[in-house]
Amino acid sequence: MAKKIVVIGSGAAGMTAASSAREANEDAEIVVFTEEEHVSYSPCAIPFVLEGKIKDFDSIIMHTPEWYRKERSIEVRTRTKVTGVDVDKKTIALADGTSAPYDSLVLATGGTVFVPPIEGADLPGVHKVRFIKDGMDIQKAMASARHVVVAGAGVIGLEVAVALRHAGLEVTVVEMFPQVIPRICDADMAKEVQSYCESLGIKFVMGAPLQAIQGEGRVQKVVAGGKEHPADLVVMATGVRANLELPNQMGLEIGGLGAVRVSPTLQPYRKGRLMRDVFLAGDLVMCESAAAPGPTMSQLGGTGVRMGRVAGINAAGGYATFPAVVSPWVSQIGDVQIAGTGLSCGLADYYGMSVVEGRSTGTTRARYYPGGKKLIVKLLADRSTHRIVGGQILAGEEATGRINWISAAILNGATVEDFVTSYENAYCPPTSMVKDVVNRAAEDLLSKF
Ligand SMILES: Cc1cc2nc3c(=O)[nH]c(=O)nc-3n(C[C@H](O)[C@H](O)[C@H](O)COP(=O)(O)OP(=O)(O)OC[C@H]3O[C@@H](n4cnc5c(N)ncnc54)[C@H](O)[C@@H]3O)c2cc1C
Repeated sequence: MAKKIVVIGSGAAGMTAASSAREANEDAEIVVFTEEEHVSYSPCAIPFVLEGKIKDFDSIIMHTPEWYRKERSIEVRTRTKVTGVDVDKKTIALADGTSAPYDSLVLATGGTVFVPPIEGADLPGVHKVRFIKDGMDIQKAMASARHVVVAGAGVIGLEVAVALRHAGLEVTVVEMFPQVIPRICDADMAKEVQSYCESLGIKFVMGAPLQAIQGEGRVQKVVAGGKEHPADLVVMATGVRANLELPNQMGLEIGGLGAVRVSPTLQPYRKGRLMRDVFLAGDLVMCESAAAPGPTMSQLGGTGVRMGRVAGINAAGGYATFPAVVSPWVSQIGDVQIAGTGLSCGLADYYGMSVVEGRSTGTTRARYYPGGKKLIVKLLADRSTHRIVGGQILAGEEATGRINWISAAILNGATVEDFVTSYENAYCPPTSMVKDVVNRAAEDLLSKF
């Protein structure tokens, strides 16, 4: 009999798991259940649709359920909430009261936007940003809005703030930490990003948790930092928490970071034992850091896809493992790219690691080549082993290739000495300086030891 593989969740992790399961097992019956109407779209593109850089939301939908049925023999059941999993009977319960059996299960139910429990958080005009439907709702609300408050100055909040500012709205960003992009970005790099956003006319209220959202029947103002800020639209970009609804109901072990603990094969634990036939992928799991010994969260599209592949192969009866991560990230905030990998100073402190910093500023192209943009590179190394453990880049262009280069060094366990002597770079005047700013930052770092 064909193996029945059930995937819950149609995000990056779930759809990749379904496709990878199909590649690993031609005969399996594969069914994806999702609460959403649209599948296989890129949430990462939502801010750029709002900004008008991408024509419309239809453009960011890669495939439809019909495409999956025809091309991959995968059934996708949209607008279907899974309300429970019976791990003993190996069945899932659906909101309509029916159930469906599985031989193996992939849980890819993602994350949820954390909304602080404050007055007015549920008023009309307050929107989360997570799914394509949220993006569509914000786009509609933008048409009649003038003052917007974006709660949260992480990369998603900043991308949305810039998008709304470019659309001509008055934008205020409220952030409880004293810097933008807290945790994953160092204060000096964050300051550059905030200054750039301020140059666009975005206002910031820093070190100020959201206190209340107020209005008669719909949002009219936000209270933060002891002051009132006018708002006819509020966008909550206040961080993502693992969606633990089904894991809790199934009795899965939750780790210290508030997400599901899994083995390298992405199997969860229940009552201290590894569960057979259940695999997890995406924003709801914890994984291992490759930069420091210990667990980390890697709530990124790239991680979701890579985990989805492992979970799909294993659910189909194959064998694959998920390695430790450095979680490289990059964000386009207006004309500025900000990127990072491995540890920031704050994360190094969290892992109890003392780090040494190197930094260099230059341009993205040869000095004499027209059009070069500002480029700042920062590298961090472990003080005791000299191992490179983190990097951050602020650039007018081409941050991605450079951050991937640093990621490879961290994943290889390269020391700063290794990097200076052996990590070669491709060069051509329109693409970099002959000694790239990354090399210069590594030399600066070496000089600090
Ligand atoms: C605006 C925005 C911009 C981003 N930009 C980037 C970026 O530039 N780069 C990057 O790497 N990452 C980015 N991310 C993060 C990235 O999109 C996520 O890490 C990734 O989408 C997570 O994928 P997932 O499959 O784990 O979860 P999700 O995409 O959250 O999918 C979860 C799925 O589970 C379904 N589901 C949940 N519960 C149930 C249930 N009980 N029954 C049925 N279905 C259920 C949901 O409907 C959904 O389909 C961004 C995210 C957002 C929101």
